[in-house]
Amino acid sequence: MLLSVAIDAPLRRTFDYRCPPDWDAGSILPGTRISVPFGRRRIVGILLEYLERSEVPAAKLRPAYHAIDAEPTFDAALLQLLRWSADYYRHPLGEVFAAAMPGPIREGVPLREEEWLWRLTSSGRDHGLAAISARAGRQRQVVELLLKRESATFEELAEEAGTSREVLRQLSNRGVIERFSRSVQRDPAIPTANTALSLNAHQREAVERVRATLGSFASHLLYGVTGSGKTEVYLHLIEEVLRRGEQSLVMVPEIALTPQLLHRFKSRFNAEIAVMHSGLNETERLSAWRNAREGTAGIVIGTRSAVFAPLARPGLIVIDEEHDASFKQHEGFRYSARDLAIVRAQRLNIPVLLGSATPSLETLARAQKQPQWLSRLPQRAASATAPRWSLIDLRKVGQTQGIATPVLLSMRRHLDAGGQVMLFLNRRGYAPVLFCPACGWGARCKRCDAHLTLHQRARSLICHHCGAEHAPIDVCPDCFGPVKPVGQGTERIEETIAQMFPDLPLARLDRDSTRRKGELESVLTRVNSGEVSILIGTQMLTKGHDFPNVTLVVVLNADQGLFSTDFRASERLAQTIVQVAGRAGRADRPGEVLIQTEYPDHPLLTLLLNGGYEAFASGALNEREQCQWPPFARIALLRAEAASMRVPLEFLEAALRAGRKQNVRGVKLLGPAPATMERRAGRHRAQLLVHASSHGPLQRFLQPWIAQLEALPEAKRVRWSIDVDAGELF
Ligand code: ADP
Ligand code: ZN
Ligand code: ZN
Repeated sequence: MLLSVAIDAPLRRTFDYRCPPDWDAGSILPGTRISVPFGRRRIVGILLEYLERSEVPAAKLRPAYHAIDAEPTFDAALLQLLRWSADYYRHPLGEVFAAAMPGPIREGVPLREEEWLWRLTSSGRDHGLAAISARAGRQRQVVELLLKRESATFEELAEEAGTSREVLRQLSNRGVIERFSRSVQRDPAIPTANTALSLNAHQREAVERVRATLGSFASHLLYGVTGSGKTEVYLHLIEEVLRRGEQSLVMVPEIALTPQLLHRFKSRFNAEIAVMHSGLNETERLSAWRNAREGTAGIVIGTRSAVFAPLARPGLIVIDEEHDASFKQHEGFRYSARDLAIVRAQRLNIPVLLGSATPSLETLARAQKQPQWLSRLPQRAASATAPRWSLIDLRKVGQTQGIATPVLLSMRRHLDAGGQVMLFLNRRGYAPVLFCPACGWGARCKRCDAHLTLHQRARSLICHHCGAEHAPIDVCPDCFGPVKPVGQGTERIEETIAQMFPDLPLARLDRDSTRRKGELESVLTRVNSGEVSILIGTQMLTKGHDFPNVTLVVVLNADQGLFSTDFRASERLAQTIVQVAGRAGRADRPGEVLIQTEYPDHPLLTLLLNGGYEAFASGALNEREQCQWPPFARIALLRAEAASMRVPLEFLEAALRAGRKQNVRGVKLLGPAPATMERRAGRHRAQLLVHASSHGPLQRFLQPWIAQLEALPEAKRVRWSIDVDAGELF
């Protein structure tokens, strides 16, 4: 009998091994970590299945060393999900497994947490106290204690027998006692919940609808405007799931950005909560993973990769802000955690609940097909009124550094009335362009087709695409005339606002201002306590923060994205605008939203203004259907890059020829074409789009095609990747 093993290597294949002589195939199950030779190294692989024979000649097959654990790391359901994911996203299986394990588990540390205990050796037990001198009182106490009970930890011995490590060392040197390890068995604490808010009728209906499907698969959409009490619905359902003795997996876009959400969970439940996100160190990650796997954690909250968290008794999956782009991994193993969560729920036969004020078009299309699983929360829970929106036509009004005069007047009015104001601009730094008015020179990145952004605070010119940093300059290198920053970033808006409202405290929330640990929390606290009157920020502002006192929200530039070539750009823009706007008037004060634009007649803006996200989405879905874009088709993007443009194009041309030969019905190949930003970090990039009528043909096409691509001679000269259900097309 042979073993088929997944190994963490960038190869789309599995590896076969012989069983070692004492292998117990009856008890070592697929999903178990095993130690195998790989080249000259000894590494950790995952047993996939037992094989009768291999394509590898018998003489070349090496025996595996041993199984690392007596139980599988991944149960059958999770093992199947991971194999399915590798298949679907056409990614090397070993790397998929690696993504699902904390570092220490990948390297072979024990599956369960272990503790060290002391016990008597058999000779220590035979001789008992007789072997210990009457004067060695501390040693006698240890032996007495260990005679009474089987074993004890050092901490117990120290407490009950007043022993020190030195005493234990002496006893162990004399062969009286010995140390051994045992995995810690912790019973899941009986979780309890603190008093909940009483739900309104819409919330009750949503809870009922999901509750009725516990124990079976259903893919629910909770479509609720911002502040409508979606989180409250999750909390009620999670309480119910805890009562059933099951676990809930809650996936959120970015935990670090939403400490409030975690706080809300922690104050609601006296249950162990396993938190999984990229900000953890290895020990924290390992402990959360173990608590999820062993079932000690009743609630698992995590970002993207938590979709692979092992769960002992899964009962419910919640995906908060399901539209968020961060659920799609953009490099390496390019999976969609949202889509995989649905697949996982389906295989586990449990419900999954997707929540958003601005659902993705994919999710809306699914909800149209399954109206029995759609719940709406049309109103805000705490305050009755939705914010009032208006467009500010930048062509018709005066402005100061990108802020229109009517906006300044409104700000003054809201601030005088004791409200807080939020300004949104999706561009960090001081100015996006440094320009010479005399000769037209602009500061550009040497390695990307992009301008350098001026960062005043950091005193540098930074490329937002490759991270390159240069010292700022005052004179043009071509004509020695003075250079001028053009356009606005959040730093510059902060400077302007500080000049206009010198007596009011303000804060900036972007990646630069929150780089140091604790700074994000500090800004959020200062906003919530009312210490800060004006908050300026990027996309970070949209992440579900609840600022009850913000009454005015200003979108400083809605126009980036209105004319993008990416078919998803308008969806993203609409979501961002609606999410930012949703921060206005969350408590009992009415909110106002002002959107600055040079294109007030653009259909996206007029639709949003008159019919809200709903109107935008139904128009956008129609358009997608007419153009046969997802969700009415499936796409995959083959990307390639190299030091010159010729090489990736040659590779993609060869890929195109190979693909054409396959001639799968319902599959079209479009391109190849250079990427919108052709050069990035010194590499020239191009892409080929695979367009398929549906999932089936796409997968039938991709499987043999990728195998052919790997064998192309051109493939050796480029860096290439395949992105199934690509999120961005440039
Ligand atoms: P969402 O997740 O949809 O943004 P939240 O659950 O955060 O909404 O609720 C928004 C605000 O309304 C919160 O301050 C919350 O405490 C409050 N809230 C939610 N549900 C209720 C309710 N049933 N009764 C009173 N207040 C509620
Ligand atoms: Zn110049
Ligand atoms: Zn660059």
